[in-house]
Amino acid sequence: MADRNPLDVLKQTFGYDAFRGQQQEIIAHVLAGGDALVLMPTGGGKSLCYQVPALCKDGTALVISPLIALMQDQVMAMRQLGVRAEALNSAMTFAEQRAVERRLLAGELDLLYVAPERINAAGFLDMLDRAPIRLFAIDEAHCVSQWGHDFRPDYLEVARLHEAMPHVPRLALTATADKPTRKEIVERLDLGSGRVFVSGFDRPNIRYLIQVKNNPRRQLLSLIEGKHKGDAGIVYCLSRRRTEEIAAWLNEQGVQALPYHAGLPAEARAHNQRRFLQEEGLVVVATIAFGMGIDKPNVRFVAHLDLPKSIEAYYQETGRAGRDGLPATAWLAHGMEDIGKMQMLLARSEGNERQKRLERQKLDAMLGYIESTGCRRKILLSYFGEERAEDCGNCDNCLQPPKVFDGTEPARLVLSAIYRTGQRFGAGHVIDVLRGQDNERVMRLGHDRLQVYGMGRDRSLREWRAILRQLAAMGLVHVDMEGHGGLSLAGDVRPVLKGERRVELRELPKERAERGRVAERKRSTDEMLGDPFARAVFERLRERRLELAREQGVPPYVIFHDATLAAIAERRPTDLAELSLISGMGATKIERYGAEVIAIIEAMNEAA
Ligand code: ADP
Ligand code: ZN
Repeated sequence: MADRNPLDVLKQTFGYDAFRGQQQEIIAHVLAGGDALVLMPTGGGKSLCYQVPALCKDGTALVISPLIALMQDQVMAMRQLGVRAEALNSAMTFAEQRAVERRLLAGELDLLYVAPERINAAGFLDMLDRAPIRLFAIDEAHCVSQWGHDFRPDYLEVARLHEAMPHVPRLALTATADKPTRKEIVERLDLGSGRVFVSGFDRPNIRYLIQVKNNPRRQLLSLIEGKHKGDAGIVYCLSRRRTEEIAAWLNEQGVQALPYHAGLPAEARAHNQRRFLQEEGLVVVATIAFGMGIDKPNVRFVAHLDLPKSIEAYYQETGRAGRDGLPATAWLAHGMEDIGKMQMLLARSEGNERQKRLERQKLDAMLGYIESTGCRRKILLSYFGEERAEDCGNCDNCLQPPKVFDGTEPARLVLSAIYRTGQRFGAGHVIDVLRGQDNERVMRLGHDRLQVYGMGRDRSLREWRAILRQLAAMGLVHVDMEGHGGLSLAGDVRPVLKGERRVELRELPKERAERGRVAERKRSTDEMLGDPFARAVFERLRERRLELAREQGVPPYVIFHDATLAAIAERRPTDLAELSLISGMGATKIERYGAEVIAIIEAMNEAA
């Protein structure tokens, strides 16, 4: 068969009009036999970079993907498009595996998904050698990097593919792009002679919001009820126990939520993950064990109740929101204890001094980000080496610029209170002393006789907490989480104590204002579907999509994305030709569902 043109494949099979960003260039490079590393943000359209080439030529693209559990979804999504895709994994029976191998050898597959451990299976490489393999696609390629945060020893085996079949081009793809990880991927996969494609990392549809914790559960609930009612979302927590507690609590509050962490039995994990993918509007409360390879496009919010350990981790986790390009929220709540907790984990982590120092730097960058007063997106992008001139207008600091003030004096005061009280008390006591409280402990310790006693009366408890938190984030105060949260001086505090270094602090937002910010935004589909009739059509299409998904045992978004349904509901095409102009309506989808979609629209038009 003659080669097909990439743009034709894009239009006919995927129903999209144009390539995005560097897709076209990457695809041309791969089709010409080149190797490449592709760095693109989540939702940027990495998969298309190997799916389209796989359909342009005869033969098969082999896709290495980290999670067996999710391969099936990718295979199903491909089949919905009429693509001949299969997976090979240990969960299949021997006979099933044989059947797939036969089709592969007969040249009847466009895409074959395997986990990295398969490469080691007896006879696998020999079998591949006899098959018409045209491309190796290595998804989530950062898993080969020990420096990255998802290291998977099995990924090291990927290098063997190239040793065994050096003429097959390789395409490694990842959303993690810091320099050390990138370098390690190139080294370990021996991609030195290939090209590196770095795409813009911006995710303009994600709104970044950061709040200070006062009642984190209530704050989370108000986020969900205020603007994400009925939406699918992911809530990240550090500990397994907390994921379960928060999930249970959300359920009591009427928000359907499921826990997910590595301590759950494998079936429970698989079950919860499946439900999240296949049902609408579920919230998963998870440790970071959840999410890799989750490509549910309509996750509308990602909430962090604990601090991520680096900006990379934060960016990757928040990046799971809004893959469909519709408005989504990345929300994080933090408090001083969190800073101490992260520092403790860091201190305890295994690894040599160099590694610890790097981890420390990463955490500092994260802390700097949460305490910053400027545009959040600018900071994130600049971390990935992208400088941006304008503020984004879609983060909390842009929407409601925080006021900063010269905090040199209060900083000096609180640092000296920590010092004078002996560098072992927690924030509560230090603030009591500053505010001149005469409670039992202050009196017993004689701290009412200290010079700093009562010198901070003019500020509230909340204000002092905010100041301490910022000093901790700046690395001037250490929080001892091994003990009882005792504070001590750290870093280069001398110039501050001496009044030689100016300290800039952000003013506390008014509590009311903070709440208003959360409530102010409507749901994304509301924005697309202002007209009530369009909304009714959308809801009807969604209902039907859910039924179809159930019948076929696939997630609803595999059938149609929300964005596609919203566009249909908005434009209400009355024939197949018109319908095929809508993004996401490829030939196979038109064939399978087109008539039914038109019938639904006609019936509703008549009834209206
Ligand atoms: P990634 O793997 O980079 O996270 P995906 O490949 O899953 O991203 O793509 C994200 C979404 O964008 C998918 O729903 C995909 O179908 C869609 N998409 C990708 N490329 C295009 C394009 N050129 N035009 C329209 N939609 C696209
Ligand atoms: Zn901004």
